[in-house]
Formats: sequence, structure tokens, C-alpha cells
Amino acid sequence: GHADRAFDVERSTVTLADVGGMAEVKKRLEVSFLGPLRNPKLRSLFGKSLRGGLLLYGPPGCGKTFLARAVAGEMGAAFVSLSITDVLNMWVGSSERNLHDLFESARGHAPCVLFLDEIDALGHKRSQLHSSAMRTVVNQLLTELDGVQGGNDGVFVLAATNAPWDVDAALRRPGRLDRTVLVLPPDRPARASIVEFHLRDRPVAGVDLDAVAAATDNFSGADLAHLCETAAEFAMRDSIATGEIRMINQADMLAAAAEIRPSTDAW
Ligand code: ATP
Repeated sequence: GHADRAFDVERSTVTLADVGGMAEVKKRLEVSFLGPLRNPKLRSLFGKSLRGGLLLYGPPGCGKTFLARAVAGEMGAAFVSLSITDVLNMWVGSSERNLHDLFESARGHAPCVLFLDEIDALGHKRSQLHSSAMRTVVNQLLTELDGVQGGNDGVFVLAATNAPWDVDAALRRPGRLDRTVLVLPPDRPARASIVEFHLRDRPVAGVDLDAVAAATDNFSGADLAHLCETAAEFAMRDSIATGEIRMINQADMLAAAAEIRPSTDAW
């Protein structure tokens, strides 16, 4: 149907071990989410249900989507990702039905992590949508989150935002997106492990991860991924020109770092 174009059901190939840094975030996910998930007996002993989702918040490009995908990978769950801005733009007039189809599809693929990006778009005044139309979408989402029709067994909702203050308060109530996880820009050791991850399947020689990390203050995870691509491109260009493989080296990494403007200064 119409809704299908907005989302794909993926199988995640990353796990939390692939996520650089975020020691605190991982601990929090373990305690509030993955731990209970893995211990059904203790859940029933303590009378805790698995209801309710997580709200990830923090600056752009620092790994919220990546983290959600890793959570799915960790659980062996399907992964469905959708941007609320896209929902509002594509599903004008049919968003209720399509949101329902989305949740139905997630229920059909359970266990499934449903990732809703830019959830704050539902609270915006600047949207094209008339506020009554927006209200309709929010209400439908609340209905789906509450699992009124069909139950949400095995559907785990993770939402993300750069603007937590804009997120509709009704979405934050108990049983809905009731736990928040702050995802900050990577610190120096985290940057080293993110760079290591993005170089792992590429030919490298003599790259000093710590020195790269030291030269990339305020780089987001996305910036670091881009840096590794850029460095790879430099080495590949040389390899094409000379017909001989030249590995990615430290000079490539530093030259790439100098070309990229870090995107997290403002946070
Ligand atoms: P946005 O708010 O713009 O959606 P985001 O916080 O969801 O940003 P991601 O899309 O998850 O950011 O990150 C972009 C890319 O940056 C990822 O696909 C991944 O390649 C890389 N990345 C970000 N953080 C990490 C990390 N901690 N470890 C490894 N790679 C990372």
C-alpha cells in the first residue's frame, strides 16, 4: 500500500560493540531495557512489563539512529526506521491509517525495534500541517503506542530528537516514551573507537587512532564516518593514478580532518 514507501523492515548487522564510546548510554540501555528483556522470570517476579519506549536525545549525527539499530542487532530484532517529518509530508490526509499500518507491520515482524526519528516534528508550529491535522496524527500515535488495538508485544519503540523541549508532553507519559537517554558528541577515546570502526574493513597502514582523535575535537560520529570516507578517497585516488595500492595513512587522516568542519560546536 501507500505506507510501504516510507519504511523498510531491515535486519540489523550492528550490535552495541560496534558503537564507539557511549559507555554510560550503553549501561543505561542495559539496565532499563536490555536487562529486563533478557530476564522474563525476574520481570514477572517483580511485576514489571516491557511497556514503554525510549526517547534518545542529543545533537545531530552523534549516533542515535546507529544506536537504535545496534539495539535491534543486540536483540536479534527486526529494525524499522521512519522519520516523522517524512510521515507528515508524505502521509497528509492518510497519516492515521498509515501509522496504523506501520505499527501493524512492526507487530507482524516482532520482535521489532521501531525507530521514530525527529519525533519533535509533531510539536512544531512551523510545520505545514494545520494544528488540528497535527493533533490527529499525535492522537493516532498515542493510540498505537498504547497498543490499544492489537497489543504491542515484541514491538520496542525508540524515538529520537535534537529538540527534546519540542516533544509533545503526552508522548512522554508513563508507558509511552517514558525513559530518556542523552546521546552526546563523542569524547576523545570514543572518537578513536569510532574511527577504528569505520576503518576496520579498509586498507590502513600506520594510522595513529589517538592522534586522529586528538585532532577531531567537536566532530560528531557522522563527521568521523565522513572523515574516514574522505581519507579512503585520497588513498584510492593515488592508487588509481599509480596502479599500485597505497594504504590509507596518517597524512590522509589528518588532511581529511582539516577539510571537515566539526558539526557539534553549538552543543
Ligand atoms: P540525526 O539526529 O542527524 O539523525 P543521529 O544521532 O541519528 O543523527 P546517526 O545517523 O546515527 O546520527 O549517525 C550517523 C553516522 O555516524 C552513522 O551511520 C555512523 O556511521 C556514524 N556514527 C555516529 N555515531 C557513531 C558511533 N558512536 N560509533 C560508530 N559510528 C557512529
